[in-house]
Amino acid sequence: MKITFTNTAYVHTRERLVLNKGRWNKRLALQVRVGIIEHPDGVVLIDAGYSPEAISAPGRSPMLRAYSWAFSPELLPDGDPIEALSQMGYTADDVKAIILTHFHVDHISALARFPNARLIACQQTFENVRTRSIWANIHRGIFPEFLPNDMTVRLENVFDKPQVNGPLGLGLVYDIFEDNRILAIRLPGHAEGHFGLCFPQLERPMLYAADVQWVTAALTRGPIGYPGRLVAEDPHAQRESTAKVAGFARAGGDVLLCHTPEMTAYDRKPNT
Ligand SMILES: [Zn+2]
Repeated sequence: MKITFTNTAYVHTRERLVLNKGRWNKRLALQVRVGIIEHPDGVVLIDAGYSPEAISAPGRSPMLRAYSWAFSPELLPDGDPIEALSQMGYTADDVKAIILTHFHVDHISALARFPNARLIACQQTFENVRTRSIWANIHRGIFPEFLPNDMTVRLENVFDKPQVNGPLGLGLVYDIFEDNRILAIRLPGHAEGHFGLCFPQLERPMLYAADVQWVTAALTRGPIGYPGRLVAEDPHAQRESTAKVAGFARAGGDVLLCHTPEMTAYDRKPNT
């Protein structure tokens, strides 16, 4: 099983906003990764990334326009998941499932491109999104306009999957396809229902910790201050989740984050 990440966009920010004691004058280009897993049963995506649907498409809601203006993501057409899949010899129809680590806009905006994929996510979060006001959702960085109308029938609750013990001290995890290849682990704090994915069968077990932090250095640098911490749903839980991920790395595991700027061994080089 091979795992490749494609970068759908850059989000430009300053180090101080994402790293404790970071520099205000250091500019960072955060990546917005989508994972492409070549699983024996078919292609599985991790999240859906930023896309023109969120950034430039006509018909977007006024609040979405304001949101994308504020963050000004720089879309990378070559990193678009459909383009990356095509360069790997696949089409959207080959995508059997999409695992949604959480519902923030930069993780779900391209979902409409994959109308046949099973969707694996936190059911409780989906119910919360459906039942609260649009303002309460936007306040949390969630734009329900990106969730497909048939999500209720396509959604599988990740936390209903069988529980097993994860490697390197992770504790209880959820075996998504019941084959010990992709294990979901609760990492609360950044967003409602946020979870990471562990791949125990790689030569060196890897934990994709999604948005537990934005940059790798933050795993060991202590909690960020204001205003960066305002983004977290639950800063205390985020500290505990961060410590768990840092412990996995100390035990010898490989850790990858969605947004960290540096290239990793799992990242696809554009046009290759
Ligand atoms: Zn997020």
